[in-house]
Amino acid sequence: MSETADDDDDDGSGHDERRDVVVVGGGPAGCSAGVFTARYGLDTLVFDRGNAALQRCAFVENYPGFPGGVDVPTLLDLFRDHAAAAGCDRIEDTVESVERPADDESGFVVETQDGRRVRASYVLAAAWYDGSYLRPVVGDDAFEVHDHHGETHERFDHEYADVDGRTPADGLYVASPGGERSAQVVIAAGNGAHVARSLLEDHKRERGFPEGVAPHYDWKRPESEFSGEWGDRDRWREWFEAEAGDDHGLDDDRFAELREAYIDRAFDTKLTDEEIARQTEAGYHRLLDHVDDEYIESYLDDRRE
Ligand SMILES: Cc1cc2nc3c(=O)[nH]c(=O)nc-3n(C[C@H](O)[C@H](O)[C@H](O)COP(=O)(O)OP(=O)(O)OC[C@H]3O[C@@H](n4cnc5c(N)ncnc54)[C@H](O)[C@@H]3O)c2cc1C
Repeated sequence: MSETADDDDDDGSGHDERRDVVVVGGGPAGCSAGVFTARYGLDTLVFDRGNAALQRCAFVENYPGFPGGVDVPTLLDLFRDHAAAAGCDRIEDTVESVERPADDESGFVVETQDGRRVRASYVLAAAWYDGSYLRPVVGDDAFEVHDHHGETHERFDHEYADVDGRTPADGLYVASPGGERSAQVVIAAGNGAHVARSLLEDHKRERGFPEGVAPHYDWKRPESEFSGEWGDRDRWREWFEAEAGDDHGLDDDRFAELREAYIDRAFDTKLTDEEIARQTEAGYHRLLDHVDDEYIESYLDDRRE
């Protein structure tokens, strides 16, 4: 569900469609970022085609949660499936340019090799090898010359974005290339999530959320955390008002609207024991979708022996 995008595919401006977020790159960083923005409710499109680091790995032995290691096709499928489950759309296409639309300084037009033109409120770059598609919006300052095996190359300066992925271009975030933060799969995935949280925090600020309540936490909480005083919306209202402070500059109606939306979201994080059990089973099934039947059968045969 989109918070800001126009549902019409054609808005009459010559752009094919509108999205809240376009993520460029569907590797570890991009899928992870998309999970966060889509789960928050932003309409997220991931473009994914081009040079990829993950596809060059032989086998991944250092991603937490896979004590026996994991092959690259399975890991990539899991990342993509997770982004899809969160609500991201993924299109296999290469982004060729990102620029500001002529009529609006706050958004972007993303153009692809196959001729797509998408208008986006936010762009999150998550493609490790090449940032040249960003040149129309970031200019030459974001590129640096470096020496590679005696040859001179130009590359995207990973310090153009700050450590939280924010850039001097409003609405543009960079998770990858992120220097050392792109160096390993788990770090790239973590950084994608971190940068997506920066985007979401800024989005909430733009909607009017005061500083203290702008950070977004994608948490699920057991029912027990909503017992006692925290089961009462008035306790949450008290907390929100304390965090927001007095100098937010919002009128009473807007403040109350944002406060109630915040509390609705907080209560939506509640999971009963039955829901946890149901989600646990569904989670196993989804995981097993990624394991070939022959492995499941041979595993069961071994256990029966
Ligand atoms: C040979 C090799 C072995 C490695 N082995 C390991 C290892 O064992 N363990 C480990 O932790 N790390 C390893 N790494 C590092 C790991 O691959 C990276 O840390 C990680 O893949 C970075 O993730 P990323 O999402 O930033 O980029 P990538 O994995 O490169 O993903 C970027 C995605 O964006 C797409 N893309 C690129 N340009 C565009 C564009 N213009 N438009 C649309 N889509 C685009 C690509 O197709 C790709 O799917 C290895 C790297 C290499 C090269």
